[in-house]
Amino acid sequence: MMTPALSVTAAGGPFVPTTLTRRDLRGDDVHIEIAFTGICHSDLHQVHGEWGDGIFPMVPGHEISGVVSAVGESVSAYRVGDRVGVGVMVNSCGSCEHCLAGRQQFCVEGVVETYNSRDYDGTVTYGGYSRSIVVRESFVHGLPDEIDLEGAAPLLCAGITVYSPLRRWGPVVGKNVAVVGIGGLGHLAVRMAAAMGAEVTAVSRGVGKRADSQRLGATDFLSAESPSDLGGSRNRFDLVLNTVSASLAMDDYLALLRPGGVLVNVGAPGAPISCQPFSLIAGNRAIAGSMIGGTAETREMLRFCAENDISAEVEIVGAKEIESSYRRLRDGEVRYRFVMDATTIGG
Ligand code: NAP
Ligand code: ZN
Repeated sequence: MMTPALSVTAAGGPFVPTTLTRRDLRGDDVHIEIAFTGICHSDLHQVHGEWGDGIFPMVPGHEISGVVSAVGESVSAYRVGDRVGVGVMVNSCGSCEHCLAGRQQFCVEGVVETYNSRDYDGTVTYGGYSRSIVVRESFVHGLPDEIDLEGAAPLLCAGITVYSPLRRWGPVVGKNVAVVGIGGLGHLAVRMAAAMGAEVTAVSRGVGKRADSQRLGATDFLSAESPSDLGGSRNRFDLVLNTVSASLAMDDYLALLRPGGVLVNVGAPGAPISCQPFSLIAGNRAIAGSMIGGTAETREMLRFCAENDISAEVEIVGAKEIESSYRRLRDGEVRYRFVMDATTIGG
């Protein structure tokens, strides 16, 4: 099946219209007409070659929402017309200890990502900046009726990426949680942590996002135009969740932690983050990382969002605005996630 898409032919872009061939349906495949695709900062890192060599031409997009338009003969969980989503993963071995535990992102054979990845048969994967996609049933997620398609798309990457560490390092109820960087991931982290019962503080450059942060559920706001501005909040937080897309010196952020606290880094710049040994030693502080979340946890997150009236705050853009959207994302001007209307691709 042919489908219009947007691709970049070499690192740095620009995007050009293209046509993809999606595979004929296998038994367990679901064909999805894409409604919206979130523009994640990871797309920008990969399009710009910041994570090393990418596979070009590249069709990014791993925050996909849409409607099922056909199913393979053995598909049992979905029917034509169902509202569904696809996130960062589209295949894994299915039999290693991590896949069996529902944490396919750690598959020992190597998880197959939605784009910029090679499937086990050698084919390159192309993502959601397109009108349709074909994905194995086990990597498709049903979307709760309560969540609209544009607000749901970013949950499939940004949402699960912040939900998973809030659960792993929780329960956060009654705890002091700081969210650093109020962008696509950060604004969902504020909403989710607040819904889990945490006392949430938003940490942002400048004061421009103060009112929004409070509306999203934060009870306090720290402006960190320079990290040294954080000095008044040392030893205060049980958990600091860093979602910043740029490389930071972590010492001033580690100093925010109470003794025994954890800074979980989910931001993924292509350059090192750093800290002094004593920033960890003093107070038995820890730095951890977290990578998206498995299929089981993604479905749990979607139910949690439906029950707590959580979805992404989005600005809908058309395919023709892709370059300006990337510029605004790079410059931190998005509140809080661009989602592309997939019907404008190839139009
Ligand atoms: P985003 O919407 O651009 O948000 C990033 C936020 O970081 C910005 O809104 C800004 O917040 C802050 N920031 C940006 N540059 C900064 C700088 N130089 N100094 C201090 N703060 C800065 O990006 P996103 O889509 O949320 O993604 C965030 C990061 O997470 C990216 O690196 C992405 O690749 C990564 N990611 C990781 C995973 C994973 O599995 N671990 C999954 C998805 C994404 P303020 O305006 O509030 O300062
Ligand atoms: Zn993403």
